[in-house]
Amino acid sequence: MNKIAIALLSGGLDSSLAVKMMIDQGIVVTAVHFTSPFCNCTSKKAGCKHQAVKVAHEFGVPIRVIHKGRDYMRIVENPPHGYGRGLNPCIDCRIYMLKKVKEMMAGSRSSFVITGEVLAQRPMSQHRVAIRKIEKDSGLEGRILRPLSAHHFPLTIPEREGIVDRQKLLSFAGRSRKPQIELAEKLGVRDYPCPAGGCLLTDKLIAARLRDLFSHVPDYNLVELHLLKIGRHFRLHPGLKIILGRNKLENEQMQNMARIGSVRLHPVDFRGPICLASGTLDARSEGMTGEIMARYSQDEKNRYQIKKQILGKEESLIFVEKRFSKEAAAKLQII
Ligand code: SF4
Repeated sequence: MNKIAIALLSGGLDSSLAVKMMIDQGIVVTAVHFTSPFCNCTSKKAGCKHQAVKVAHEFGVPIRVIHKGRDYMRIVENPPHGYGRGLNPCIDCRIYMLKKVKEMMAGSRSSFVITGEVLAQRPMSQHRVAIRKIEKDSGLEGRILRPLSAHHFPLTIPEREGIVDRQKLLSFAGRSRKPQIELAEKLGVRDYPCPAGGCLLTDKLIAARLRDLFSHVPDYNLVELHLLKIGRHFRLHPGLKIILGRNKLENEQMQNMARIGSVRLHPVDFRGPICLASGTLDARSEGMTGEIMARYSQDEKNRYQIKKQILGKEESLIFVEKRFSKEAAAKLQII
């Protein structure tokens, strides 16, 4: 065993502290950061990825960013160890990431893995039984070192072999952040909180939309996953979902996310939402879509004019009235 390790670096405080503690023990660290369409803080200047890259840069360690792809989505669809409070398959998600790290280890000289886990901090994946299970199923038994919480776990191989000094490791546990904040001050590590809060798979609304997508669109694509995060979503029939922007920003985002062949509907003579339709838009559902768009307009008119575009193909006009009640629209909403 050598002094080279791979660290899971989320960009948050715990993993940053874990990495710093190991650097201070002379361990040569390479950081790995995972992203997914469900990261809740993906802006270029303030997202988790940005924070992780910034932390790695400040610590002077190389970082590799891995996108959780289609193989990850298969796990989200059907996780062997089930979901948390939303559609978050935390145990299988951790196993997935650690297996990827194990593959990286095979191609590098790294001999163990560092994580910022703290015993009992998270309900699903950080209790003792889950942690043991994750370690076993990832094939990394004895090789996952948790510097912040190490004294709550059996000796790892790097501790046993004297690569890491257990005396300098810690015994944090539970949900309090106070010990981490004190340690950060001591080690001169800055906190890099994600401004929006983490993983959207734990969000009940996203979970409902994702369930709907899984059951109606088995061959969904990445754009459809990103669209889950914006707008109001309605399923008008099993073969048709529509999304309405809730504000100017969402209308612009939807404009940009529409692809050739997408059906996009624009208000022509009123202020209201842009709509993206996904599926079969027959004459009846076209009228319903227009009426729901009119429902969400603050303008009061006898007749609303809407431009329907099949991108890259044709355009037409439709005319509707504001007939849908809020209650009727709510019944179709995916929430
Ligand atoms: S909260 Fe999300 S990213 Fe974190 S372990 Fe759970 S599923 Fe994975």
